[in-house]
Amino acid sequence: MADILIAGGGIGGLAAALGLAKRGHRVTVLERRDVFTEVGAGIQLGPNAFHALDLLGVGQEVRNRAVFIDELTFMDGTTGEKVASMPVKDDYRARFGNPYAVVHRVDLYLPLLEAARRHPGIELRGRHHVVGYEQQAGSVTALLADGRRLTGDALIGADGLHSAIRAQLVGDGSPRVSGHTIYRSVIPMEAVPEDLRWNTVTLWAGPKWHFVHYPIAGGETFNLAATRDNGATEAVAGVPADHDHVLNSFPELSGAARRLLELGQDWKTWVLCDRDPVDRWTEGRVALLGDAAHPMLQYAAQGACQAVEDAVLLGGLLDGCAADFEQRLEKYSAARRERTAQVQLVAREMGRQLYHAAGDARVERNAMLSSLSAGDMYDKVAWLHGAYDFDAWTSPSA
Ligand code: FAD
Repeated sequence: MADILIAGGGIGGLAAALGLAKRGHRVTVLERRDVFTEVGAGIQLGPNAFHALDLLGVGQEVRNRAVFIDELTFMDGTTGEKVASMPVKDDYRARFGNPYAVVHRVDLYLPLLEAARRHPGIELRGRHHVVGYEQQAGSVTALLADGRRLTGDALIGADGLHSAIRAQLVGDGSPRVSGHTIYRSVIPMEAVPEDLRWNTVTLWAGPKWHFVHYPIAGGETFNLAATRDNGATEAVAGVPADHDHVLNSFPELSGAARRLLELGQDWKTWVLCDRDPVDRWTEGRVALLGDAAHPMLQYAAQGACQAVEDAVLLGGLLDGCAADFEQRLEKYSAARRERTAQVQLVAREMGRQLYHAAGDARVERNAMLSSLSAGDMYDKVAWLHGAYDFDAWTSPSA
């Protein structure tokens, strides 16, 4: 079996470690931070994520911590009216075979971390800042910031949006700063008046802004996320924001949405970034995964979902000996590039056309969304929420 190095111990890196260790490989995860941990707030998980998480053996743990909402609700933030909703209960589950859920990021990360810690084939190393790699015939060496070198049969770059592995492999510079700023807050459920404890992912859409809220952490906390297209030019992640600044940034919000925004505390700021899709994710025995490969805006709520799909397929394709890893990594990249590129581009368009539409575009959007039946909506998301067909790439005939 092979020795595989993974740069980055985030959701993608840990999922990849599990996917590869399940195939019998020895995996070393090199994480730049001192400890393996996650920050952030709530995220949404489509049924495609649960399909992949089940194959990694952690689906049930994530389900145990998740909130299963009733519907995705789209509100016109200008008028305060409900435009459309997509129910995600029985019919939806029957169609896609798994639930739609919302979790705190930690409730996805911890099951992955605990499973990785339990696995005898996985070694987790903090304070390992990878800055690049060198390839030799039949092996690859990860280069660390402090001069250490670690050699293995393959190196997976799961080091996120500002990936050092991507910088060397693709060399496409800094991520694209979207100009959209998101303020996030997680508040205790008891702070939320009962009439506002909606068991939905609700999105209020206005010209150049939107506001999303949903319960997380098994219903113990409530996630608030308010986004404004304010032309921000610098990438920011998790920087504290003043409460009054957040309130003043969304003067249009009124009614229930305003009441919820006012409940926010300990706001944190992100300025969202993505990249254009690229054709190259591999070089010899090195491959990219997760945000390092396909960073996307969060508007399709799929970045983490796609990372865990990457991880399952990578494991499926790298089973067996290391002799032909280069070809197998190429196959992994060929399998994943088209789908993830589509999600990257769709997520951008969702922000522009759906969430931030103004004027006539807003009226057309509302007419289009309100004309859709639940079945129509399921048809529209089927390519994304449906289970990814791993077998199509891993079966002996593939
Ligand atoms: P990361 O989570 O960035 O992890 C990278 C890891 O690598 C980190 O631990 C980092 O410390 C480490 N690292 C970085 N550089 C190095 C280095 N040089 N050497 C070693 N280690 C390194 N996704 C969804 O599916 N649903 C959602 O609803 C959703 N909502 C989101 C909301 C927001 C506001 C944002 C910003 C993202 C959202 N996402 C969502 C996307 C999701 O968070 C990411 O796609 C996912 O975290 C990617 O995981 P990753 O492991 O590839 O990268």
